[in-house]
Amino acid sequence: MKVRKFLLPLLFGFGILFAKPTVYILATGGTIAGAGSSTEKTASSYEAGKVLIQTILQALPKQEIAKYAKLKSEQVLQKGSQDLTPQDWIIIAKRVNDLLKQRDVDGIVITHGTDTIEETSMFLQLVIKSDKPVVLVGAMRPSTAISADGPKNLFDGIVLASSKEARGQGVMVVANSNILSASDITKTNPVHVDTFKPANIGILGYMWNNKPYFLRISSQLHTTKSQFDISKISSLPRVDILYGYAGMDERAIEASIASGTKGIVFAGVGNGNISSSVEKALSQASAKGIKVVRAGRMISGPITQWGEVNDEQLGFITSWWHTPQAARIILMLALQSKITDNAKIQELMLKY
Ligand code: GLU
Repeated sequence: MKVRKFLLPLLFGFGILFAKPTVYILATGGTIAGAGSSTEKTASSYEAGKVLIQTILQALPKQEIAKYAKLKSEQVLQKGSQDLTPQDWIIIAKRVNDLLKQRDVDGIVITHGTDTIEETSMFLQLVIKSDKPVVLVGAMRPSTAISADGPKNLFDGIVLASSKEARGQGVMVVANSNILSASDITKTNPVHVDTFKPANIGILGYMWNNKPYFLRISSQLHTTKSQFDISKISSLPRVDILYGYAGMDERAIEASIASGTKGIVFAGVGNGNISSSVEKALSQASAKGIKVVRAGRMISGPITQWGEVNDEQLGFITSWWHTPQAARIILMLALQSKITDNAKIQELMLKY
């Protein structure tokens, strides 16, 4: 009796000591869940978001996964990421935040279409309140293709989300063995597996032999240091992105204003430069209270203040390091939090 009293807590203690971290997988769809639309494994046509997470998980080596993590999974959405909306980001973020509050969840992997993975990851980067790892993974080839990249990306994502090294690194995307920060990522190629690149500085690290190697940390504020709180967010204001080109006139700006937008992110040419007629229309929009952010149509920033455009006089904010799509998310969150002062929004562009 006495031995039992002593032995049971001891065994329980050992159990905790050797238990693998629990990684919770949230599936949303995308090519990682895509199925070829013909029986040929080399054909390029497929439908995204066809395969459920339970089937995707069967492609992973069970015994090797068990060395790193216990898995739980849930199909939270099932769409190609071009169909995801800001409302979907909120659904995903609230679920992630709730799961990470649980003591028995150590990390999250989100399977996601690659087209807008940079947007969902940036949104999560700014609203998740936890140091536990959150990793988004996708695939460029459907699950039925020869040499599908999804299983490897998912495996790397699980290992990364279960690792101690990933704690506090913010929201990450792992693809093609690279670890990227949600604060600095963009999809650069519509077909190649090596598509994700940092828009500015460099990848966070690599996955190698089932271990993350971090090379740097992001100095942009994120997750626990972000001021935005998903529990207080149930919708996001409309913010449009408009794309600049030679010979552009003001009609697209007028259409955006007429649609009731609360903000415009303008992907200008060069250092976010804008043709005279568009500049006038944007300045008038700003005077009416519509927030205008000058971003750029090139992959990398910075889009600086005090260049060719007098931002203060015209009522503009600049995106600095952010792609137009990342700057849009910062602006949406600012407006949702009733931050409307241009100087304050400018600060947010610099610190996140
Ligand atoms: N357009 C689909 C999506 O983003 C497929 C692209 C992909 O996942 O690679 O979900």
